Amino acid sequence: MKFDYLIVGAGFSGCVMAERISSILGKRVLIVEQRNHIAGNAYDYFDENGVLVHKFGPHIFHTNSKKVWDYLSAYTEWIPYYHRVLGMLDGEMVPIPFNLNSLNILFPSTKAKAIENALLEQFKLGDKITILQLQNNKNKQLQNLADYIYEKVFHGYTVKQWGLRPEELDASVTGRVPILISRDNRYFQDKYQAMPKHGYTEMFRRMLKSPNIKLLLNTDYKEILADVQFNKLIFTGPIDMYFEYKFGQLPYRSLRFEFEFHNKEEFQEAGQINYPNEYEFTRITEFKKLTHQKNILGTTIAREYPEVYKKGINDPYYPVPKKEYREQYILYENEAQTIKDKVIFAGRLAEYKYYNMDQIVARALHLFEKEINTEKDNKE
Ligand code: FAD
Ligand code: UDP
Repeated sequence: MKFDYLIVGAGFSGCVMAERISSILGKRVLIVEQRNHIAGNAYDYFDENGVLVHKFGPHIFHTNSKKVWDYLSAYTEWIPYYHRVLGMLDGEMVPIPFNLNSLNILFPSTKAKAIENALLEQFKLGDKITILQLQNNKNKQLQNLADYIYEKVFHGYTVKQWGLRPEELDASVTGRVPILISRDNRYFQDKYQAMPKHGYTEMFRRMLKSPNIKLLLNTDYKEILADVQFNKLIFTGPIDMYFEYKFGQLPYRSLRFEFEFHNKEEFQEAGQINYPNEYEFTRITEFKKLTHQKNILGTTIAREYPEVYKKGINDPYYPVPKKEYREQYILYENEAQTIKDKVIFAGRLAEYKYYNMDQIVARALHLFEKEINTEKDNKE
């Protein structure tokens, strides 16, 4: 079998590049995916009760990039959706990210008002500050607030999720969930926020429709390497695996999902509830609330239990953002440079980077333009 490109992995990285290569360049692509489905970690499906669930945890689409939004909009219609997350703190359900409403729920009104005034003396409405910034604040009242938020929102959750304390990770990790100087209860403030109307998997199916794209599921790419001819490989799996761990295994975090069906209309108040301080799981997702699915009897939820990634036992979901692991990754990246004419490494696992879906799409579009579409220019 002869192809122009062999793509390893049918997630966002692999599928966006396959779509571009086939439709813009008219070239032949083979995608090899070890799982029994497309869409990578964004895979969703209807469970036995008819609820559209996300197999690998809640996936909420949000972006400020018009380019990414327009690109995906060619393959899906959207349902407007603003993600709201509540956190169980001191027995109260409060908005996460922590905002002025959370403050007013948790503290007596005079104290909440005084803290709010102290915040508004230094920051303006709509500002976002990281927990680290608040901890370094000179104002004693705000330092106390920082201690409270650190302890109740970040410490327990982060230790569960990563097996590390917040200060042991890159500041960008807790920086993903900043403190909001506002009453905006949404989890994200991006310009475009929505869910694909018919689900992520259907969106991927439409992306892969071209006759130039062939798909092989249930197959590790190594099984077929000797049987296919191709000019270039695009690898979206773990980079350390590609190089047979020659610089040691890169650490990833994994998750165990426990799905549960409940024979009632609603399970919880919000699509996602975080439990930083209680239980071994970090969060519970109620899927119907993410997709606005109607006319379903009952509701499906999933609890997420973080785990250490162990090869062959569970899946790698999160690279661990920490300086020493980044340095280990750079050894692999340098190795990748030496074969860049033959192999492109792209994606959350291949670049060992905590990318969101929209960043992955932007990255794949960029790599296509920079590394692949130029081949066409050279010929012309
Ligand atoms: P993946 O989706 O991981 O795809 C890589 C594929 O390669 C996999 O399907 C894998 O099976 C395959 N593969 C690996 N090795 C081989 C091999 N040897 N042979 C064949 N196939 C192979 N992003 C958001 O924007 N919003 C969210 O709300 C959000 N929530 C998330 C929640 C969780 C729990 C997780 C884990 C991630 C979340 N993300 C979210 C991030 C999002 O999942 C990723 O950004 C995106 O899926 C990465 O796409 P990818 O193609 O790089 O990798
Ligand atoms: N986080 C936290 N408490 C929360 C929510 C998030 O401590 O209630 C921290 C935690 O370290 C987490 C990180 O912020 O891993 C990023 O959270 P996000 O919701 O972006 O994680 P993801 O959806 O990628 O799992």
